[in-house]
Amino acid sequence: MDTLVKGLTDEGLLVFGLVDTATVEKARLIHGTYPTASAALGRVISGSLLLASTLKDNQKVELQVAGDGPLKEIFAEADPQGRVRGYVARPHVQLELKNNKLDVGGAVGKGFLNVLKSLGGREPYRGTVTLQTGEIAEDLAYYLSTSEQVPSAVALGVYVDTDNSVKAAGGYMVQPLPGTPDETIDYLENRLKTVRPVSSMILDGLGPKEIMNEAVGLPIKFIDEIKVNYFCPCSKSRVLDAVAALGKADIEDYIKKGESVEVTCRFCKSFYKINPEELEELLKNTQWQPK
Ligand SMILES: [Zn+2]
Repeated sequence: MDTLVKGLTDEGLLVFGLVDTATVEKARLIHGTYPTASAALGRVISGSLLLASTLKDNQKVELQVAGDGPLKEIFAEADPQGRVRGYVARPHVQLELKNNKLDVGGAVGKGFLNVLKSLGGREPYRGTVTLQTGEIAEDLAYYLSTSEQVPSAVALGVYVDTDNSVKAAGGYMVQPLPGTPDETIDYLENRLKTVRPVSSMILDGLGPKEIMNEAVGLPIKFIDEIKVNYFCPCSKSRVLDAVAALGKADIEDYIKKGESVEVTCRFCKSFYKINPEELEELLKNTQWQPK
């Protein structure tokens, strides 16, 4: 079961640990991603879950990585309940390994990280930063430090096996709360330089709490634990709402031509077909505003 854990050290470090291997494997199966694309999408999915875990219940975060590399766009949205979904514009991207690793930075290229936080009723928060490396973790840390003024260390990792399946995915994030002693921050910076990649920890079977312990090397009080899963709330009734939003004239046009409206969900690939009879129903049951 995929899990995200939150904890706090006595020195004032907020620590988050995540293992979401099954979630990222599900994303791979839905989108048919090739290894480099699987790693990129997996890191954005994991990053969105880590960011969402700092939000309140009715809030949500969207991450969009828009680069000039072959992947073009990677998108994920997550909520603090551990629900996440995402897609990559070009799922069939596979680059040569770089330094024996999947070349996510090369597949992303230069561009921007756009973050949208829906704050449940309040005006959403938008932030954009230039991609630093395109490797996602560094870009998220840079976003948090510059756009939100929350200094953060972020590590993300995805391991793709020779059969193309995702064998490990997850990450951790550390944020010093205001008032954390300088020597703790120095200690953390030095320690994180020597900590092994998080994908290696997950391959060895470590859970989120063990990852957090290995990352910071200080006693952690665990304060919250959230189940994580790939979840898409799309449904026929939501598709009907979207079709209604096309407007009366467009729907009448479909009916006149005897055509169905066909929609495939970007996030879960569910296929919806609204036939002309259903369109007639929709036309009757919708309150149309005079234009
Ligand atoms: Zn869907």
